[in-house]
Amino acid sequence: MYKQKRTARALFIVFIIFTALGLASIVLYQFIPFVKDYPFFTLGSAMITCGYAGIAFANLYKLISFDEQIRSLYIENRYNLSRESLFFNYQLFEKRINKLIKLHKKQGTYIISFTASKRTVMRNLYRNGTITQLNGFISDYLNELLGHSKDYNPNDFAYCYYHGQFVIYSFVPLNKVQDIILTIQKEIYAIVARNDLKVYTIPYFGVADVRQDLSLFEVLDNALTARDYSETHFESETFYSDDLRKDASLSEVEELREAIQNNELEVYYQPKFHLATKKFVGCEALVRWNSPRYGLLTPARFLDKAEVSGLIHEIDMFVFKRVCEDLASIRRKGDRMLPVSVNFSMYEFYSPDFFDNILKTINKTGVQTSLIQIEVTETTAQANPFMTTSILKKLKENGFRILMDDFGLGFSNLGNLNRMEFDTVKIDKSFIDGLITDAKSREIVKFLIALCKTNNMEVIAEGVDKIEQVEILKKAKCDVIQGFFYSKPLPIRDYQDFLNNNPFEKKEEAE
Ligand code: C2E
Ligand code: MG
Ligand code: MG
Repeated sequence: MYKQKRTARALFIVFIIFTALGLASIVLYQFIPFVKDYPFFTLGSAMITCGYAGIAFANLYKLISFDEQIRSLYIENRYNLSRESLFFNYQLFEKRINKLIKLHKKQGTYIISFTASKRTVMRNLYRNGTITQLNGFISDYLNELLGHSKDYNPNDFAYCYYHGQFVIYSFVPLNKVQDIILTIQKEIYAIVARNDLKVYTIPYFGVADVRQDLSLFEVLDNALTARDYSETHFESETFYSDDLRKDASLSEVEELREAIQNNELEVYYQPKFHLATKKFVGCEALVRWNSPRYGLLTPARFLDKAEVSGLIHEIDMFVFKRVCEDLASIRRKGDRMLPVSVNFSMYEFYSPDFFDNILKTINKTGVQTSLIQIEVTETTAQANPFMTTSILKKLKENGFRILMDDFGLGFSNLGNLNRMEFDTVKIDKSFIDGLITDAKSREIVKFLIALCKTNNMEVIAEGVDKIEQVEILKKAKCDVIQGFFYSKPLPIRDYQDFLNNNPFEKKEEAE
């Protein structure tokens, strides 16, 4: 994509040199007696003309190729995804905002963020596609309202679908922001009724003002925090203030922070079984909160709060450190040691220190990087593709293996598979759930497996809990299986015991 930009710059420089030489010839013609002949003057003038024409051409070329970039991104998205994907591109969003800021000669006013319902409701409804449908309708409506209606100037808005929420960057005053919120709110209810969608809808909005001292990402984060506050406090909209973070942190987030400090987090390991060799070949590290008050909690109970508050970074780093320490201890004991995959949140891929932090822990514990797989979700890969690609590339160059998690869920972009050089792809549980009863899921899984194979990527099926699913996956030539059928996630000691003594490898060996 940047090739065109480089070509344009090279053309530009060549023609500048042309113009400079032309000018120099004219000067020489004017002042130095021995070059005072007519052809020299003509040559100089011709060079200046050529130079100017060339500069104009280089600029035009840059313009055209820039539009081409944007068009190709749109086409790529439209081809692979649903309508809502048109909004799911943070990079385009940022580019458009920068263009609008130039046009307005000032920053925007407010960022609005919203969802059609509670985040947990939305997540559950991904499985049957209702949310994709609903978000598609909302996308169309936003396009109409802010892009084509006579009430609003399209150059006052940039919008995208970001991290599960719609986000609008605006240049309009607060009273217009209020109008927009009311209009969208009404329309969401109308869309659900009109299309008979089986969704429990309560739209939640958050608004944050664009401040000079904050980056776009920080204002965006404020808007998302305000929306989250609306959801947890049953308000339809909330205007961001720094107090909101204090309020949130006072209750659940503060509890989680204390839990991290009090060492209440634990790492569980879920084994992965290789079908062809009939051996366990690795495991996934999954965080648990062993709370004295609530008991053993899975991430569904606390990951949302961790993401909103930024505590997710501490959790990710805790899990990674614990995995490295466990591996080092297994090596010391001479016990059976298999590679471990670790989940990293999208937030890590916005942090320039991520790679160094990872390497520091590796160096401290002396663990081989080939024993670590980095699990990245599609959402992460798409939200910040340039930074994610460069971090993943560095990790790969240092021997880590890279895995795409939850593939197929929501926004499958096949382009990402190749671009980011994943070693392994994990097909999302929602497809595995349908394997036995739903022919469509079966076909999709077969297709995804074949696709990964042609691209030389290993395929894992996750969430496998029935023998029939194993049989179907075996036939479809799936490489590895992870799921309750083989084992639930286990604490380290139980996991090592399981590896050393389990019915699956033993039974297969005896055959
Ligand atoms: P994931 O990475 O897709 O992990 C797989 C989830 O599926 C795990 O849930 C696992 O327990 C569950 N699972 C595996 N096999 C089966 C099965 O046969 N049936 C059923 N019903 N479930 C199965 P878990 O441990 O609750 O984790 C949920 C999600 O939380 C993970 O999804 C991952 O996205 C996130 N997560 C877990 N640990 C971390 C972490 O350390 N950092 C970050 N950033 N995210 C994490
Ligand atoms: Mg995972
Ligand atoms: Mg997964």
